[in-house]
Amino acid sequence: MTTKKTGTLLTHAGSNPKAFHGVVNTPVHRASTIVFNTYAEFENISKAPFSYGRSGTPTSASFEEAVAALEGAAGSVSVSSGLSAITIALMSFSKAGDHVLVSDNVYGPCRKFCREILTKYGVEVEFYPPLAGAGIEKLFRKNTSALFMESPGSLTFEVGDIGAMAGAARAKNITTIMDNSWATPLLFKPLENGIDVSLMSATKYISGHSDVILGVVSGTADSYPQLKKTALQLGVCAGSEELYLGLRGLRTLEVRMKEHQSRALEMAHWLEQQPAVKRVLHPALPSCPGHDNWKKYFKGASGTFGIILRETDKTKIAKMLDGFELFHMGASWGGYESLCFPVQPKSDRTAEPWTEEGFSLRLHIGFEDIGDLKAELADGFKRLA
Ligand SMILES: *Cc1c(COP(=O)(O)O)cnc(C)c1O
Repeated sequence: MTTKKTGTLLTHAGSNPKAFHGVVNTPVHRASTIVFNTYAEFENISKAPFSYGRSGTPTSASFEEAVAALEGAAGSVSVSSGLSAITIALMSFSKAGDHVLVSDNVYGPCRKFCREILTKYGVEVEFYPPLAGAGIEKLFRKNTSALFMESPGSLTFEVGDIGAMAGAARAKNITTIMDNSWATPLLFKPLENGIDVSLMSATKYISGHSDVILGVVSGTADSYPQLKKTALQLGVCAGSEELYLGLRGLRTLEVRMKEHQSRALEMAHWLEQQPAVKRVLHPALPSCPGHDNWKKYFKGASGTFGIILRETDKTKIAKMLDGFELFHMGASWGGYESLCFPVQPKSDRTAEPWTEEGFSLRLHIGFEDIGDLKAELADGFKRLA
């Protein structure tokens, strides 16, 4: 299936109706025990496609096959959450005594894992400026084992020079890892851009309906076996219902992403004109840090971006947020519905201070009528006055 175009892959990859009595969608396999028919089969356990629920079922295999085809990966490993995809990737490519470079704008829980768990096992973690580009080389040490990127950062939306960083790391045999939850392989394919490991929170755009926690991590022929081994040995696997919903989400990913893109762009342009808004941090707008990198590497934009309000008075901000009916205030993004979430980048930066004054919000633009969404925001901005 890997030679087919994206729309075809999304529709058919991982699908095998003949194996399931003609049922189009791979059924949910609720499995722990998987029996062997003969002792000979048992003796050949390593060759059995399925041997125990935790190490894989036809449901996980379908989802993984589809994601691997999209990523152009040697293999994908489905895991319990986006965060476990992150932790498995980092644990696969670091050991005691190693030095790991992590972008200063990463997803908060990733940062916490690095600081509180990786360090406990003797890995030194250094956070680097998201726009370091080729300059990342200066931070490489003899013992640097992995370079972790998130572009755009899901809170502050800087886009790094991914190709320059991947090239510099490759020359030093440093494994590169990309959290690609924002773009999905539809808008950016990490492995085709010289990155060794691509991971996603499938909780977001892949599943697309705010009802699933699921992660997936994909690798090249060199990196995949280590990822699979780490997940197996840590005992991390995804639930069968979640896998089913993840695969179901993939089927409509392209049409949903197109809608998210056009709606979010329209909203971002509109927000740029609003006096209450100091800055819009949308990778497709020239004002976004790293916009040129976005143009260079990405095929498009998803529906998640940031704004910075001029107002900083929390009482007024609360009045604005509490009055919203459509923009729910909730973590995550990538679902069918719009979200508006306060973020505080200042407390999370160590490589370089976050100097932007003003109140930061992350918006996700869903499928409500765009006029209704704008009207709600306009009313909200009035409550700031
Ligand atoms: C949400 C998110 C994650 C974590 O995903 P979960 O499925 O919630 O564990 C990881 N990376 C990014 C960029 C995210 O936004």
